[in-house]
Amino acid sequence: MHIDNEIKYDFSDVLIKPKRSYYTSRKEVDLEREFKFKWSKQIWKGIPLVASNMDTVGTIDTARVLSNYNTLTCLHKFHSAENLLEIPNKIKNNVAITIGIAEGMNILYDLQDKERLFKIICIDVANGYTEQFSDFVKKVRTEFEDKIIIAGNVCTPEMTEQLILSGADIVKVGIGGGSACITRKVAGVGIPQLSAVIECSDSAHGIGGMVMSDGGCTCSGDISKAFGANADFVMLGGLLAGHDENSISINENKKTGEKTVEFYGMASNKALGKYYSNNMGKEYKASEGKLVQIKYKGPIENTLLDLLGGVRSTCTYIGAKKIKDISKCTTFVCVNNQLNNLFN
Ligand code: 5GP
Repeated sequence: MHIDNEIKYDFSDVLIKPKRSYYTSRKEVDLEREFKFKWSKQIWKGIPLVASNMDTVGTIDTARVLSNYNTLTCLHKFHSAENLLEIPNKIKNNVAITIGIAEGMNILYDLQDKERLFKIICIDVANGYTEQFSDFVKKVRTEFEDKIIIAGNVCTPEMTEQLILSGADIVKVGIGGGSACITRKVAGVGIPQLSAVIECSDSAHGIGGMVMSDGGCTCSGDISKAFGANADFVMLGGLLAGHDENSISINENKKTGEKTVEFYGMASNKALGKYYSNNMGKEYKASEGKLVQIKYKGPIENTLLDLLGGVRSTCTYIGAKKIKDISKCTTFVCVNNQLNNLFN
């Protein structure tokens, strides 16, 4: 047993210090960034915000809208082959196909045969710490040399390095911080997200890899903090859920008129029952996600614009002209109270 005494921070533990800035308008800020990836050598240019591969977030309709703003969508892994074939070519640059280990290779071969394998592959498992996972990343890299590979999730620098050395261009960082996640309760496992991103990005950048902060953003300020912590990409679940494009059914309270929709973790009983009912080995499996009712939010475009507006605002407060400059211009201050909750 060992205790690491260094305090690790979450987004809510810090604020970003304002600094002298030449930028007076949010319009002056450029949120696009161009990346060249370590292994695939591919170039991707866009706003590095990413819709999560949850089935209530990463849908084809979400991708259609987000793609108009040059942001990314990791499609959830339960789209049928027919659905994937319908994805319009014009959005394919901004869409990642998500696979798991079990059927992953077959899905990729199948899409390749049909000439529908786009350039970004997201290999997603809840626990990226197994030897089997690194081996699988290696295999996908060997077979699909020119694809941008996103792999995760992990939350420590050593494993970030291992996944990059196994062939990932981008490592997805975040365990336990998601809005529909209960891993920290069920398993007691995780690292506070801000510190996880700072440490993992440091090790990734040292060897030419990138990181995607995944989970824990509750508002646009948190997205800016993730970029400030040196995340190259920021993935969002709950913030982008509850919209018309998220394949939801809306429940209306007849008395109050309030509209809500279901949002659930991909390891919740709801998702397990929906996708894995017959073969999950129930006696060993504990749900690690929750089901919640969230407010129906209308079109996703409005939310996206609000979030991007928030990040632009951060940039004007700290003197960052481009999204890439956010981390250089960021000084975090530790706080014991982040928000005024009088009216919450
Ligand atoms: P959010 O942006 O909602 O805070 O976090 C989204 C992330 O939570 C997802 O991208 C995924 O990594 C993670 N996640 C989604 N469903 C579950 C779940 O059921 N259990 C756990 N542990 N994490 C989940």
